[in-house]
Amino acid sequence: MRLTIFSRLMIGYIAIFILMMGVAAYTILKLHYFNKEMRHILKVDTLLLEYEERLTESLLSQMRYEKKFFITQDDALFGQFLSAKEEFEGYLGKLDSLADTTPKKDLIKRIKKDFEQYHLLISEKVKRVKTKQHTVDRQYEEEKDQKVNAIIEELEHLEAYSHEGIRQKMKTLEETGQSTRKLTIILSTIAVLLFIAISFFTTRSITRPLSLVMGKTNEISGGVFQCDLNISSPPEMSEVARAFNSMCDKLKVVDKMKSDFLSMMSHELRTPLTSIKEGTALLREEVAGPITEKQKRLLTIITEESNRLIDQVNSLLDVSKMESGMMTFHFEQRSLIPLIEMVILEIGPIVEAKKISLEAKINGPLPEIPIDREKILQALRNLIGNAVKFTPEEGQVIVTARSIDREVEISVTDTGPGIPRASLTTIFDKFQQIAPAGSTQERGTGLGLAIAKYIITYHGGKIWAESELGRGSTFTFVLPV
Ligand code: ADP
Repeated sequence: MRLTIFSRLMIGYIAIFILMMGVAAYTILKLHYFNKEMRHILKVDTLLLEYEERLTESLLSQMRYEKKFFITQDDALFGQFLSAKEEFEGYLGKLDSLADTTPKKDLIKRIKKDFEQYHLLISEKVKRVKTKQHTVDRQYEEEKDQKVNAIIEELEHLEAYSHEGIRQKMKTLEETGQSTRKLTIILSTIAVLLFIAISFFTTRSITRPLSLVMGKTNEISGGVFQCDLNISSPPEMSEVARAFNSMCDKLKVVDKMKSDFLSMMSHELRTPLTSIKEGTALLREEVAGPITEKQKRLLTIITEESNRLIDQVNSLLDVSKMESGMMTFHFEQRSLIPLIEMVILEIGPIVEAKKISLEAKINGPLPEIPIDREKILQALRNLIGNAVKFTPEEGQVIVTARSIDREVEISVTDTGPGIPRASLTTIFDKFQQIAPAGSTQERGTGLGLAIAKYIITYHGGKIWAESELGRGSTFTFVLPV
């Protein structure tokens, strides 16, 4: 889905918000239910119990008044009996309006009926008393007691129902509480997990393309121009990728133009330079006629400068071959010792002129390894040449060679000006030169180490520099056996 970074973040956060709101709403609903049930228990059920108690008390009072009345025949007692009756009927009415289940309502109906019959019996007896025809009627008394007992029993039933109702409600509340707690924990856990997942995916959908861009930037800074950055979403990043690819394409064109120009210029320069060198040699050999000592000295300088220029042009050509992958290698099993000796011999005149002590320390026999002789010679010339070039007069250069594990290691140590720590890796990049502190810049192209690194890496080896400013440098490379 091609969603913008903004929409991704918004959707992510809205989803989390909705989820949290859902959990909160569920908890609030459940709390509301709890409150309602608790209110019902407190308001209705406890009131029911209270009325039931009062009804029993009222019935007992009626019985007392009725008994006293029949003994004393005091009308005031009968009046009290009647007001207790009214009170009973009042409470029964209230109880009826509060009763919330059919069994309770049925019981109340039965109480009403029994109570009416009880009063019918009483009215009958009152009539008899008034007409003085009262006789002790056993059956009547039994019937009346039966009614009273039935009412009391029914009230007890009602009370039991109410207690049972409260118990049931409390049980349901407890169960609902437990399930709500469980569900809230589950929902909260899901919400937290979703929060983590949404945050992870939203952040990743932003950081992943960023790291792709970072990787490509590193490639370009390393000179690899593969302009195929492909980011389809988010749209902002695919826009960045498009711009990046077009920038990369342009850089590629410029880089090619530069390489083509260098290679063309080097080719164009090499032929006239060689002609100058040859011509100067002929003049020096007096092929074109005799020359004076002063002219000879000038011709020597021209020869040296032409040689230097030819070397530089050759280095430039090597670099352009290296970059276009056109440098060819011919591997043979060889020992490095004769190569080291040969470079030391070649550089002899300069070493002598600078009164430098140059020595080779070969530790044990070195195994023959697969190398391109010419290329390794070139790498050695660059390293030993640099050491001699940068070491001041009467300094020391040591070339050590040893075999370790399955590698051959060559080090070139000098007592030159040293290299700042920050430049120890960058000096292997082309055109990188550092002006040694307190000394004038030695002449060079800044290509020697780049070529040496390419050659060693092509052989499957590694090259690095160690140095301390003012204490000289050591350049080491290892080649696999
Ligand atoms: P060049 O020597 O032609 O300038 P290189 O690539 O061989 O180019 O070296 C790059 C830079 O590394 C040099 O310009 C110099 O500043 C530094 N360097 C190389 N070798 C040494 C050394 N032995 N001692 C001090 N600096 C060195």
